Amino acid sequence: MAEATQVTDHSGGVHSIRVPIPDNPLGYTLVYLVDTDAGPVLIDTGWDDPTSWDALTTGLAACGTRVEDLTGVLITHHHPDHHGLSGKVREASGAWLAMHEADVAVVRRTRENKPARWYAFMVAKLVAAGAPEDHIAPLIAARDSGKPRELPGFAPALPDRTITPGDLLDLPGRRLRAIWTPGHTPGHVCLHLEEEHPAGRAGNGRLFSGDHMLPGITPHIGLYEDPDDATVTDPLGDYLDSLERVGRLDPAEVLPAHQHTFTDAPARVGELLDHHEERLTGLLTLLASPLTPWQLAERMEWNRPWAQIPYGSRTIAVSEAEAHLRRLQKAGRVEQVPGSDPVTYQSSPH
Ligand SMILES: [Zn+2]
Ligand SMILES: [Zn+2]
Repeated sequence: MAEATQVTDHSGGVHSIRVPIPDNPLGYTLVYLVDTDAGPVLIDTGWDDPTSWDALTTGLAACGTRVEDLTGVLITHHHPDHHGLSGKVREASGAWLAMHEADVAVVRRTRENKPARWYAFMVAKLVAAGAPEDHIAPLIAARDSGKPRELPGFAPALPDRTITPGDLLDLPGRRLRAIWTPGHTPGHVCLHLEEEHPAGRAGNGRLFSGDHMLPGITPHIGLYEDPDDATVTDPLGDYLDSLERVGRLDPAEVLPAHQHTFTDAPARVGELLDHHEERLTGLLTLLASPLTPWQLAERMEWNRPWAQIPYGSRTIAVSEAEAHLRRLQKAGRVEQVPGSDPVTYQSSPH
């Protein structure tokens, strides 16, 4: 890929920098640089890796600024391809770091929890989902080894400000409003730049959509994994509601955190809603006979056959199957089979 394409000028004091995500098919995170009267601000920072840091600092230089000059960092959500370099950026610049409090809570928990506790939680969760022994065994071994290796991303930077949904952010000279869009994570936010589109496009300003809305892929929606919270959440329901909210904003242009910018947000929202409705309906057919979340995941359609899905992605796939079951259950379209252990789910009779 040509180095020259690493930075894009979106006009009106907005640039994007492609920050690579090593060994990941997504390729890169689009980190946005927004000029304000108080100095430049970043939206997301990218993966914590030396190559990514180089791309970020080189990109900032190409935009005519330096990491030292940054005054603030807005994080769309806590995932490491968005929040990974935040600590380094703050260290180098003294910039404030802001995130929605629901994702700050995830960061705090991740920092406080020992990996052993996390493994124990994952083991219990996968047993309950009906995962086979060979899938759970490595996690049990890690849990019981007494000294589990530290996983990357176990010490994310703790933000020093929270993003309050609905409020205009304190950015002199700009009108940027936080829109809470839970689903992909509990505290995901989109950032709405309520300023006329620099090329005069029809619509309401520009929307930094994070991972909430991407032009060519659907974001992962799993259960919000929280060892300390037994609340029965419905992330897919949250996500679908958040999508409709963002569609109603009708932005002139969407600036997502991966892939490329696009227009006609309501059409993309419609596609995503249709996709999820189709998927939910398809699952009801699979659930004509009782299935555990694991069995459902094995039968769902993925981007490749189940047998070829690597270990870590299977865990993520099961979480996605569980989020779909939760949505169907909340909608009264699926019920738990009484007395089943591990719990199986079946379409509700109509
Ligand atoms: Zn994400
Ligand atoms: Zn992402």
